[in-house]
Order: sequence, then structure tokens, then C-alpha cells
Amino acid sequence: MKITEVHIYSHTMPVKNGPYVIASSKVYSLDTTLVKLVTDNGLFGWGETCPVGPTYQPQHSRGAVAALEEMAQDLIGANPCQPLLLRRKMDSLLNGHRYAKAAIDIAAYDLMGKHFGVRVADLLGGAVTERVPSYYASGIGEPDEIARIAEERAAEGYPRMQIKIGGRDVAIDIEVVRKVWERVGGRMRLAVDGNRSLTTRDTLRLSRECLDIPFILEQPCNTIEEIKAIRGQLHHAVFLDENGEDLNTVLRAVGDGICDGFGMKVTRIGGLHAMATFRDICETRSMPHTCDDAWGGDIIAAACTHIGATVQPRLCEGVWLAQPYVEGHYDAENGVAIVDGHIKLPRGSGLGVIPDETLFGAPIASFG
Ligand SMILES: [Mg+2]
Repeated sequence: MKITEVHIYSHTMPVKNGPYVIASSKVYSLDTTLVKLVTDNGLFGWGETCPVGPTYQPQHSRGAVAALEEMAQDLIGANPCQPLLLRRKMDSLLNGHRYAKAAIDIAAYDLMGKHFGVRVADLLGGAVTERVPSYYASGIGEPDEIARIAEERAAEGYPRMQIKIGGRDVAIDIEVVRKVWERVGGRMRLAVDGNRSLTTRDTLRLSRECLDIPFILEQPCNTIEEIKAIRGQLHHAVFLDENGEDLNTVLRAVGDGICDGFGMKVTRIGGLHAMATFRDICETRSMPHTCDDAWGGDIIAAACTHIGATVQPRLCEGVWLAQPYVEGHYDAENGVAIVDGHIKLPRGSGLGVIPDETLFGAPIASFG
């Protein structure tokens, strides 16, 4: 099987009941980039990458388009059933830009699954569940409001909630965490995500003043160095998210004992092939982790759910989807959705999602 055509689409996704507020930004609408690979036997596969605004990570939606345009023509003739060789080919064409290469990698897995008549989860080692746990991420809000949301999500069946903090007086964040804990107690596991925004001083204060609350502290400070400097004084387990930029930083963090787990994004690390390697590194050291992405529609959601379904259950911190914040689906029948805090693994071969491409309009670039 050979790739004969590459089509790139750009699609705008308004945030439902927006904005979505995190420490670094308010997000009203996201520009997602979709890739359709067509092969010489008439199959097609879809990939997607969608940075959550310009300040969350160094990735940018227009950078994704530029990177894909840089590589696309030279991918004609490549075999999508060889994801390792495809990754090496992309690395030979463009340095970095893993988040753009991820869209090609995801589309290749979709094609491979369709070609062999199996699901992507099977290609990634095999699903251990058909019902993948999700978690809910609150935006930044007032203590009573976030506590109310936590109560609702616990009742819905979410096994875990991530509380966003940062960008304001840490005393308010401490009050948020405390009120959520008072309201939901041990009914949900809690993560507190600073999205790089806290000083080491405020991180230490948060941990010290919430000694009795068992949450994990996700990416509190901007750099690995800051987190490393205070790690020994923290009373909570630490997860890296934004700093887990690639397999090299993951190896460093695991090897140096800088964290206890990860929030990981499929596109940031380079796609499903790299994500499977990451999963195996984590399993070797019994480190819990998520399988998410920054944002995106049904294609990203399906990719995250397939890899999430393969994670050893005791290490699976869940699959976050943008779906609760996005109106509608690319695939009206098989769209990926959270029900009772869990996600049903798609049934069809490949990703199990067939987007209605009329939603995306004409491709912004085509190669072949
Ligand atoms: Mg995070």
C-alpha cells in the first residue's frame, strides 16, 4: 500500500459556552488541522492536530499547516503500514514539529487498521477495556463554582477531575482545591494543574496548606529545573505535562526522578507510534499517565481513546477529550463522546471514525 495523495484541511472549532480559561490564556475558538491520506488501493485515513491556542505550548495551528506542506509531496509513495519508517522519513524532511508529524502518523494508523481490518488499539498492542476512563478539566473559576462543577461530574461518573489553577493569588487556588475536596471527597481522584504558571514559592505554599488533600500536582511551574528544585519539599506527587516535550525529556524526567507521572499529549510527543513507546517506558517504571491531546475533534478523540484503551488500568489516569466543549461531531454516527465519565472505544476498523469531510470545505493544500 502506497500513499498517493495528501490533503490538508483547516477547520475552526468554536468553544461551546466559551471561553475555556487556563492560566496562560482564554480560548474562544480553535483552528484544527486535518490530514487525509489516500492510498493506491483506494483507502483513506485521517489525522488531526490542534494546538489549544498560541500560548499553551510552542505549537501553533499555522505552524502545523506549514510543516505539513513542507513534507507532504515527499510522502507520496511511502507505505503507511510502516509507521517507524514513515517517522524516519518525516524526520529526514523536517526537524522537530512532532505535533504536525503526528497528524500523518495518526492517519497512517487509521489506514493500517482499515487495510488489515483491525482497530488502532489492536495495532498498538491490544485494548484492555472497551470503556476508557476520562477525566474532567475545569477551567479556572471561583471556588464555589468549581466545587459545584466537581459535584456534578462526580455524580455523572467521572473517576477523576483536574482543577485548573494559576494566574491569580494562590490563596484563591487553595480555596478552590479545598472546596472541591470538601464537596466530593474521595469520590473522584483529583489533579491540580498549574499549566506552568506558579512560582516555586506558591507551589510550596499550595502543597503545604493542602497537606490533608490527596491530589497530584500537575505541571505547577514553567520549567523542569524549577520543579526539580522544590520536588523534595513537596507533599504531593508531581506530574509533568507541558515539559514532557518528547521521549528524550520523558527519559530524563523518569531517570532523574523528577516526576511521578505524566499528562501526555499524543500530538506533542509525535503521534501514536511515539505514544506507544512512551506508554511502555511508563509501564516499566509503574508511572501513571494520561493519553490526551491539547484540543481537537473526533479524529484526535479517537486516537487518544485507542491508545488509552491499551494502558494498564492501574496506570491509566484517563483520556481527556475536548468533546464536552465542542459542538457536534465530524462523524454523526460514530463520533467519540464521554458518557458517564467514560469513553466507548470505537468499533470500526482503523480509528473507527469516518468524518463528513464536507464540514471542512475544500482542502487548503493537496499533493499527489
Ligand atoms: Mg495539564
